[in-house]
Amino acid sequence: MPTHVLVLNAGSSSLKYQLIDPHTGAAAAAGAVERIGLSPAAARHTVGAAEHHREVECPNHDAAVAVLQQAFAEHGPDLAEVGLIAVGHRVVHGGHRFDGPTLVDDEVTAAIEGLVPLAPLHNPANLTGIRVARAAFPELPQVAVFDTAFHATIPPAASTYAVPREWREEHGVRKYGFHGTSHTYVARRVADLLGRPLPEVNTIVLHLGNGASACAVAGGRSVDTSMGLTPLDGLVMGTRPGDLDPSVPGHLARVAGLGVDDYDTALSRRSGLLGLTGSSDFREVMTRRDQGDTDAQLAFEVVVHRIVRHVGALAAVLGRVDAIAFTAGIGEHNPGLRAAVASGLDLLGVELDDAANAEAHDERRISAADSATSVWVVPTNEEGEIARECAELLG
Ligand code: ADP
Repeated sequence: MPTHVLVLNAGSSSLKYQLIDPHTGAAAAAGAVERIGLSPAAARHTVGAAEHHREVECPNHDAAVAVLQQAFAEHGPDLAEVGLIAVGHRVVHGGHRFDGPTLVDDEVTAAIEGLVPLAPLHNPANLTGIRVARAAFPELPQVAVFDTAFHATIPPAASTYAVPREWREEHGVRKYGFHGTSHTYVARRVADLLGRPLPEVNTIVLHLGNGASACAVAGGRSVDTSMGLTPLDGLVMGTRPGDLDPSVPGHLARVAGLGVDDYDTALSRRSGLLGLTGSSDFREVMTRRDQGDTDAQLAFEVVVHRIVRHVGALAAVLGRVDAIAFTAGIGEHNPGLRAAVASGLDLLGVELDDAANAEAHDERRISAADSATSVWVVPTNEEGEIARECAELLG
């Protein structure tokens, strides 16, 4: 009886994978082929405590799948023995068409292709992953799981931008939201940790990694989120600005002659922490702040202010907040950031337990017993969630 899902996350020059038991969410193996198209590419394959690294020639993603198959053949587990239920693909943008995990066929790949203008950096790479996996594992169902799908429940009042009708109707301009697999996973874990049924729990999830977004989850359903048409909106990120007055591009076109490609590059790759400090890495920014760097201090304050402002707005949307959960690289690992955010949330009666916040344990409550809103650290498991959704779709 097949038991596992092979989860693929294809980027423009990388193919990350995990072999997952969807019932536990645990990874039996994980790995990545990176620097695809460069010579040499780098392959990593981890099984338990054993980590295998090697340099490979890998001119394209077809070759990367062959590297993946070879890694399983050499280091295990044996894919035939484990038995695969499906290959699960992370796809960034599902537009308004995809509101759940979807079995891939030619019509579905054409629809994902049609959404490329909404996610020009991500959807083409995700499609490449689907194409090479269909060729390598032709006997298996391929399932697309979209970052946007969880947010299909956001009501029109929250997802509609007040812009001209033809932008909305002809060009799909609206809020979609991202990081859906992370937000849904974390919100479910919080309900489990609280020991309460998911439909009864209201949670604000703060996914703070290189990309960052906040999500209001009411009874397991997304009702609002900080990202929008693309993953540029909302919180301050590694290289993206988040909230921005929409007149900034027009202003810069007039005063500095910037064109569309200039903004796209500046707003996707040169803004956020990088724009404020010269480094996109939060850890490095924290080190500089400790050394008295004033740019790093300001960046920290901007990041915290933005999070507090979004949490306040999402709390008002929810009406009642039972829990706030921190996840992803920064959210899971930075007690100082969590403490600064918590101290801005007096309105929600948030009191941290400083010792619990400082601990290096994984999943835990970090609020004090008398905190009006409970606060949690929940390591995200996006691949586990993708595997779970694949298994659920396939019954
Ligand atoms: P991605 O969005 O690429 O998946 P991650 O969730 O891995 O990103 O988060 C990356 C961010 O997390 C970086 O800014 C990094 O500095 C930060 N980070 C990772 N580990 C730590 C840590 N121990 N302390 C502080 N920040 C950390």
